[in-house]
Amino acid sequence: MTRATSENYAALLELQRRDARMTSLSESLKTLQQEPQLVAALKRRQAAVHTAKQLDARRADLEKSESAAQQKLDDVLARLEKDRQRRDAGGSAKEVSALQRQIESLTTQVEKARTALATATQELESFRAERSAVLPKLQAADAEAKNLVAAAQERGAAMQAEHAQLVGERDAALAAVDNQPLLARYEKIRTGGHAIRTAATTRTGVTCGSCGSAMSPAELAEVEADPAEVSTCPSCGAIFAG
Ligand SMILES: [Zn+2]
Repeated sequence: MTRATSENYAALLELQRRDARMTSLSESLKTLQQEPQLVAALKRRQAAVHTAKQLDARRADLEKSESAAQQKLDDVLARLEKDRQRRDAGGSAKEVSALQRQIESLTTQVEKARTALATATQELESFRAERSAVLPKLQAADAEAKNLVAAAQERGAAMQAEHAQLVGERDAALAAVDNQPLLARYEKIRTGGHAIRTAATTRTGVTCGSCGSAMSPAELAEVEADPAEVSTCPSCGAIFAG
């Protein structure tokens, strides 16, 4: 049999309020990194990073192609210039004729190389325009994710600080109840199950303030038989502390 005063009960309800807040903070801290908005933003950021890498790889390829096309043109032009000089330097009719054929062939190659270079340059320019259009979106996805992570960290830090404060103040809240048997019952109910439970509540007539169950007339009569005697909800087991 446990007996309690209204002062004991008031302090017990305050203790329960603080304990419930601590439990809720612990739960929130556990799920903080799994918030759908944050998870979605991190996925978008990951996709953006992937796209940015692909764009960089494509740019490297296109720059390489353009540079190769330029090199090819330079080579053919150099050969052409050399052949022209040899032709202009003179020689046998046979040699000049052979050089002339060579020059004609190289001239055709120069045209092809010019076209290839123009195509490569055009592709690189289109790509650069496309990349410039996409880049701000990628940067926005990155910034959004960073902001949400920072906000979550800030909320987490605030919750941790509040939790630490409640932990620090718990001894005083326990002492304020000033009734060891009542506290012992409270702790047993609170931590005795699989999960932390509400161990102190109020009641309105036949209705439990914690689980909402309504007591039968017989149960109510038992609860109200001795107002100084600690009673509990027949459904959820919480102490009726007011
Ligand atoms: Zn109940």
